Amino acid sequence: MNRSTCSLAPEPSPDVVCRNRADYERSIGQPEWTARWNLEQSLLPARMPVWPWSRIRIRGHCPLCDRPATFITKARHLRSGSRFASSGFRDGMICSRCRLLGRHRKLLQLLDADPASRTTGIYLCEQRSRFHAVTSDRYPAVTGSEFLGPDIAPGSVVGGIRHEDLQRLSFAAAQFGFVICSDVLEHVPDHRHALAEIHRVLRPRGTALLTVPFSTDADACTQRAVLEDGRIRHLLPPQMHHNPISRQGSLVYGDFGWELLDHCRAIGFTDVALVLYWSLTEGHLGIPLHYLRLGKSG
Ligand SMILES: [Zn+2]
Repeated sequence: MNRSTCSLAPEPSPDVVCRNRADYERSIGQPEWTARWNLEQSLLPARMPVWPWSRIRIRGHCPLCDRPATFITKARHLRSGSRFASSGFRDGMICSRCRLLGRHRKLLQLLDADPASRTTGIYLCEQRSRFHAVTSDRYPAVTGSEFLGPDIAPGSVVGGIRHEDLQRLSFAAAQFGFVICSDVLEHVPDHRHALAEIHRVLRPRGTALLTVPFSTDADACTQRAVLEDGRIRHLLPPQMHHNPISRQGSLVYGDFGWELLDHCRAIGFTDVALVLYWSLTEGHLGIPLHYLRLGKSG
Protein backbone atom coordinates (compact mmCIF):
# COMPACT_ATOMS: atom_id res chain seq x y z
CA MET A 1 0.00 0.00 0.00
CA ASN A 2 1.30 3.39 -0.94
CA ARG A 3 1.26 5.36 2.28
CA SER A 4 2.58 8.77 3.08
CA THR A 5 2.57 9.60 6.75
CA CYS A 6 3.66 12.61 8.68
CA SER A 7 3.93 13.16 12.43
CA LEU A 8 2.93 16.64 13.42
CA ALA A 9 3.59 19.19 16.09
CA PRO A 10 0.77 21.54 17.13
CA GLU A 11 0.85 24.79 15.23
CA PRO A 12 -0.93 28.08 15.92
CA SER A 13 -3.04 28.87 12.90
CA PRO A 14 -5.68 31.52 13.56
CA ASP A 15 -8.37 31.92 10.92
CA VAL A 16 -7.89 34.84 8.51
CA VAL A 17 -10.90 37.08 7.86
CA CYS A 18 -11.06 38.41 4.29
CA ARG A 19 -13.72 40.99 3.53
CA ASN A 20 -12.67 41.38 -0.10
CA ARG A 21 -10.19 40.13 -2.70
CA ALA A 22 -7.51 42.61 -1.61
CA ASP A 23 -7.61 41.24 1.94
CA TYR A 24 -7.27 37.72 0.60
CA GLU A 25 -4.36 38.47 -1.72
CA ARG A 26 -2.52 40.33 1.03
CA SER A 27 -2.94 37.38 3.39
CA ILE A 28 -2.24 34.53 1.01
CA GLY A 29 0.94 36.30 -0.15
CA GLN A 30 2.48 35.98 3.31
CA PRO A 31 5.46 33.59 3.64
CA GLU A 32 3.58 31.37 6.10
CA TRP A 33 1.05 30.50 3.42
CA THR A 34 3.82 29.71 0.93
CA ALA A 35 5.35 27.37 3.50
CA ARG A 36 1.98 25.70 4.03
CA TRP A 37 1.51 25.32 0.28
CA ASN A 38 4.96 23.75 -0.07
CA LEU A 39 4.18 21.36 2.74
CA GLU A 40 0.93 20.30 1.07
CA GLN A 41 2.76 19.73 -2.21
CA SER A 42 5.33 17.58 -0.42
CA LEU A 43 2.55 15.26 0.73
CA LEU A 44 1.28 14.58 -2.78
CA PRO A 45 2.19 11.35 -4.55
CA ALA A 46 4.56 12.37 -7.34
CA ARG A 47 4.82 9.15 -9.34
CA MET A 48 2.41 7.07 -11.36
CA PRO A 49 0.68 4.79 -10.86
CA VAL A 50 -1.37 5.92 -7.93
CA TRP A 51 -3.45 2.85 -7.16
CA PRO A 52 -7.18 3.33 -6.52
CA TRP A 53 -6.81 1.98 -3.01
CA SER A 54 -3.85 4.19 -2.08
CA ARG A 55 -4.47 6.56 0.78
CA ILE A 56 -2.59 9.47 2.34
CA ARG A 57 -2.73 9.30 6.11
CA ILE A 58 -1.82 12.21 8.34
CA ARG A 59 -1.67 11.83 12.08
CA GLY A 60 -2.99 14.69 14.15
CA HIS A 61 -5.60 15.59 16.71
CA CYS A 62 -9.35 15.87 16.11
CA PRO A 63 -10.83 18.63 18.31
CA LEU A 64 -14.30 17.13 17.97
CA CYS A 65 -13.19 13.72 19.15
CA ASP A 66 -10.70 15.38 21.52
CA ARG A 67 -8.35 12.51 20.76
CA PRO A 68 -5.39 11.79 18.51
CA ALA A 69 -6.72 10.82 15.09
CA THR A 70 -5.60 9.98 11.58
CA PHE A 71 -6.95 12.00 8.65
CA ILE A 72 -7.32 10.00 5.45
CA THR A 73 -7.62 11.05 1.81
CA LYS A 74 -7.63 9.02 -1.41
CA ALA A 75 -4.23 9.52 -3.02
CA ARG A 76 -5.55 9.35 -6.60
CA HIS A 77 -7.30 12.68 -6.03
CA LEU A 78 -4.03 14.24 -4.95
CA ARG A 79 -1.56 13.53 -7.74
CA SER A 80 1.17 16.12 -7.78
CA GLY A 81 0.53 18.83 -10.32
CA SER A 82 -3.14 17.96 -10.60
CA ARG A 83 -5.44 20.94 -10.53
CA PHE A 84 -7.62 18.84 -8.25
CA ALA A 85 -4.99 18.57 -5.55
CA SER A 86 -6.55 21.19 -3.30
CA SER A 87 -10.06 19.83 -3.70
CA GLY A 88 -8.73 16.33 -3.04
CA PHE A 89 -7.67 17.49 0.39
CA ARG A 90 -10.78 19.64 0.86
CA ASP A 91 -13.20 16.83 0.08
CA GLY A 92 -11.25 14.22 2.00
CA MET A 93 -9.20 14.27 5.19
CA ILE A 94 -11.75 12.06 6.89
CA CYS A 95 -11.16 11.63 10.62
CA SER A 96 -10.52 7.99 11.54
CA ARG A 97 -12.64 8.40 14.67
CA CYS A 98 -15.68 10.61 13.90
CA ARG A 99 -15.47 9.87 10.11
CA LEU A 100 -16.28 13.47 9.20
CA LEU A 101 -14.80 15.39 6.27
CA GLY A 102 -12.45 18.21 7.15
CA ARG A 103 -14.91 20.96 6.18
CA HIS A 104 -17.66 19.38 8.27
CA ARG A 105 -15.34 19.17 11.26
CA LYS A 106 -14.44 22.82 10.80
CA LEU A 107 -18.09 23.92 10.79
CA LEU A 108 -18.68 21.98 14.02
CA GLN A 109 -15.53 23.47 15.55
CA LEU A 110 -16.99 26.92 14.82
CA LEU A 111 -20.30 25.98 16.45
CA ASP A 112 -18.47 24.51 19.45
CA ALA A 113 -16.61 27.79 19.88
CA ASP A 114 -19.88 29.77 20.17
CA PRO A 115 -21.86 29.13 23.40
CA ALA A 116 -25.04 30.27 21.62
CA SER A 117 -25.02 26.98 19.70
CA ARG A 118 -26.18 25.24 22.92
CA THR A 119 -29.21 27.43 23.42
CA THR A 120 -30.52 28.31 19.98
CA GLY A 121 -31.91 26.48 16.97
CA ILE A 122 -29.54 25.30 14.26
CA TYR A 123 -30.71 24.69 10.70
CA LEU A 124 -28.48 22.29 8.79
CA CYS A 125 -29.13 22.19 5.03
CA GLU A 126 -28.79 18.41 4.88
CA GLN A 127 -30.25 15.47 6.75
CA ARG A 128 -29.28 12.16 5.22
CA SER A 129 -25.61 12.34 6.10
CA ARG A 130 -23.05 11.51 8.72
CA PHE A 131 -22.57 15.27 9.21
CA HIS A 132 -26.21 15.67 10.21
CA ALA A 133 -26.10 12.66 12.53
CA VAL A 134 -23.07 13.97 14.41
CA THR A 135 -24.47 17.51 14.56
CA SER A 136 -27.79 16.26 15.96
CA ASP A 137 -25.98 14.25 18.63
CA ARG A 138 -23.89 17.25 19.58
CA TYR A 139 -26.46 20.06 19.84
CA PRO A 140 -29.92 20.15 21.39
CA ALA A 141 -31.96 21.80 18.63
CA VAL A 142 -30.91 20.79 15.11
CA THR A 143 -33.30 20.77 12.16
CA GLY A 144 -32.04 19.14 8.97
CA SER A 145 -33.57 18.82 5.52
CA GLU A 146 -32.90 17.65 1.98
CA PHE A 147 -34.26 18.83 -1.37
CA LEU A 148 -36.47 15.91 -2.40
CA GLY A 149 -38.05 17.32 -5.55
CA PRO A 150 -39.79 20.33 -7.07
CA ASP A 151 -43.35 19.05 -6.52
CA ILE A 152 -43.10 18.51 -2.76
CA ALA A 153 -44.38 21.11 -0.32
CA PRO A 154 -41.60 22.67 1.77
CA GLY A 155 -41.77 21.35 5.32
CA SER A 156 -43.17 17.95 4.24
CA VAL A 157 -41.59 14.85 5.73
CA VAL A 158 -41.14 11.94 3.32
CA GLY A 159 -39.81 8.68 4.72
CA GLY A 160 -38.45 10.48 7.76
CA ILE A 161 -36.67 13.12 5.68
CA ARG A 162 -37.82 16.74 5.78
CA HIS A 163 -38.05 18.46 2.41
CA GLU A 164 -37.02 22.07 2.05
CA ASP A 165 -36.25 24.28 -0.93
CA LEU A 166 -33.65 26.85 0.10
CA GLN A 167 -35.36 29.38 -2.17
CA ARG A 168 -38.66 29.14 -0.21
CA LEU A 169 -38.09 27.74 3.25
CA SER A 170 -41.14 26.78 5.30
CA PHE A 171 -39.60 28.11 8.54
CA ALA A 172 -40.77 31.19 10.41
CA ALA A 173 -38.71 34.37 10.28
CA ALA A 174 -35.94 34.57 12.89
CA GLN A 175 -36.34 30.90 13.84
CA PHE A 176 -32.66 29.91 14.00
CA GLY A 177 -29.51 31.21 15.63
CA PHE A 178 -27.35 29.39 13.08
CA VAL A 179 -27.73 28.18 9.52
CA ILE A 180 -25.12 25.71 8.33
CA CYS A 181 -24.74 24.81 4.64
CA SER A 182 -21.87 22.76 3.34
CA ASP A 183 -21.54 22.79 -0.43
CA VAL A 184 -25.25 23.28 -1.07
CA LEU A 185 -25.55 26.84 -2.43
CA GLU A 186 -24.00 26.01 -5.81
CA HIS A 187 -26.83 23.52 -6.43
CA VAL A 188 -29.62 26.06 -5.94
CA PRO A 189 -30.93 27.64 -9.19
CA ASP A 190 -31.04 31.14 -7.70
CA HIS A 191 -28.44 31.52 -4.96
CA ARG A 192 -29.56 35.06 -4.15
CA HIS A 193 -33.06 33.85 -3.29
CA ALA A 194 -31.48 31.17 -1.11
CA LEU A 195 -29.30 33.71 0.70
CA ALA A 196 -32.32 35.97 1.25
CA GLU A 197 -34.20 33.03 2.79
CA ILE A 198 -31.25 32.18 5.03
CA HIS A 199 -31.20 35.81 6.15
CA ARG A 200 -34.95 35.72 6.84
CA VAL A 201 -34.89 32.59 9.03
CA LEU A 202 -31.88 33.79 11.04
CA ARG A 203 -32.43 35.55 14.33
CA PRO A 204 -30.95 39.00 14.85
CA ARG A 205 -27.28 38.46 15.75
CA GLY A 206 -27.53 35.02 14.13
CA THR A 207 -24.81 33.58 11.95
CA ALA A 208 -24.80 31.59 8.73
CA LEU A 209 -21.73 29.47 8.07
CA LEU A 210 -21.42 28.16 4.53
CA THR A 211 -18.80 26.30 2.60
CA VAL A 212 -19.03 26.76 -1.16
CA PRO A 213 -16.73 26.04 -4.09
CA PHE A 214 -15.35 29.53 -4.57
CA SER A 215 -12.78 30.73 -7.08
CA THR A 216 -10.52 33.22 -5.34
CA ASP A 217 -9.23 34.14 -8.83
CA ALA A 218 -12.64 35.28 -10.08
CA ASP A 219 -14.36 38.56 -9.33
CA ALA A 220 -17.68 37.57 -10.85
CA CYS A 221 -20.12 34.77 -10.22
CA THR A 222 -20.93 32.71 -13.31
CA GLN A 223 -24.32 31.16 -13.91
CA ARG A 224 -23.85 27.69 -15.41
CA ALA A 225 -27.55 26.84 -15.77
CA VAL A 226 -30.95 28.46 -15.20
CA LEU A 227 -34.34 27.04 -14.32
CA GLU A 228 -37.06 28.34 -16.66
CA ASP A 229 -40.66 27.19 -16.16
CA GLY A 230 -39.36 24.14 -14.35
CA ARG A 231 -36.91 23.22 -17.11
CA ILE A 232 -33.14 23.45 -16.88
CA ARG A 233 -31.38 25.47 -19.55
CA HIS A 234 -27.62 24.97 -19.62
CA LEU A 235 -25.47 28.00 -20.29
CA LEU A 236 -22.24 26.02 -19.79
CA PRO A 237 -21.47 22.29 -19.98
CA PRO A 238 -23.29 20.52 -17.13
CA GLN A 239 -21.22 19.85 -14.05
CA MET A 240 -22.44 17.40 -11.42
CA HIS A 241 -21.40 16.88 -7.81
CA HIS A 242 -21.96 13.87 -5.58
CA ASN A 243 -25.39 13.77 -3.94
CA PRO A 244 -26.10 11.26 -1.13
CA ILE A 245 -29.78 11.01 -2.10
CA SER A 246 -29.45 10.86 -5.90
CA ARG A 247 -27.34 8.59 -8.08
CA GLN A 248 -27.46 11.22 -10.81
CA GLY A 249 -25.69 13.68 -8.55
CA SER A 250 -26.52 17.37 -8.19
CA LEU A 251 -26.24 19.90 -10.98
CA VAL A 252 -24.03 22.91 -10.33
CA TYR A 253 -26.02 26.04 -11.21
CA GLY A 254 -23.36 28.59 -10.40
CA ASP A 255 -19.63 29.15 -9.95
CA PHE A 256 -18.83 31.70 -7.26
CA GLY A 257 -16.31 34.51 -7.17
CA TRP A 258 -15.86 37.59 -4.98
CA GLU A 259 -19.13 39.08 -6.25
CA LEU A 260 -20.86 36.56 -3.97
CA LEU A 261 -19.84 38.66 -0.96
CA ASP A 262 -21.51 41.69 -2.58
CA HIS A 263 -24.68 39.64 -3.10
CA CYS A 264 -24.67 38.77 0.62
CA ARG A 265 -24.27 42.41 1.64
CA ALA A 266 -27.01 43.52 -0.78
CA ILE A 267 -29.38 41.01 0.84
CA GLY A 268 -28.79 42.57 4.25
CA PHE A 269 -26.05 40.58 5.94
CA THR A 270 -23.92 43.03 7.89
CA ASP A 271 -20.90 40.88 8.73
CA VAL A 272 -19.76 39.24 5.49
CA ALA A 273 -16.40 37.53 5.22
CA LEU A 274 -14.60 34.73 3.47
CA VAL A 275 -12.53 33.19 6.25
CA LEU A 276 -9.35 31.23 5.50
CA TYR A 277 -8.32 28.36 7.72
CA TRP A 278 -5.59 25.77 7.71
CA SER A 279 -4.22 23.32 10.22
CA LEU A 280 -1.94 20.36 9.71
CA THR A 281 -2.64 19.14 13.25
CA GLU A 282 -6.40 19.22 12.80
CA GLY A 283 -6.32 17.85 9.26
CA HIS A 284 -7.42 21.00 7.46
CA LEU A 285 -5.45 20.97 4.22
CA GLY A 286 -6.26 22.18 0.70
CA ILE A 287 -5.23 25.79 0.27
CA PRO A 288 -7.24 27.96 -0.03
CA LEU A 289 -9.62 26.37 2.47
CA HIS A 290 -12.36 28.75 3.48
CA TYR A 291 -15.89 29.26 4.72
CA LEU A 292 -18.34 32.10 4.33
CA ARG A 293 -19.38 33.79 7.58
CA LEU A 294 -22.57 35.81 7.28
CA GLY A 295 -23.81 37.74 10.28
CA LYS A 296 -27.20 39.37 10.74
CA SER A 297 -27.31 42.55 12.77
CA GLY A 298 -29.20 42.74 16.06
ZN1 LIG B 1 -12.84 13.24 14.71
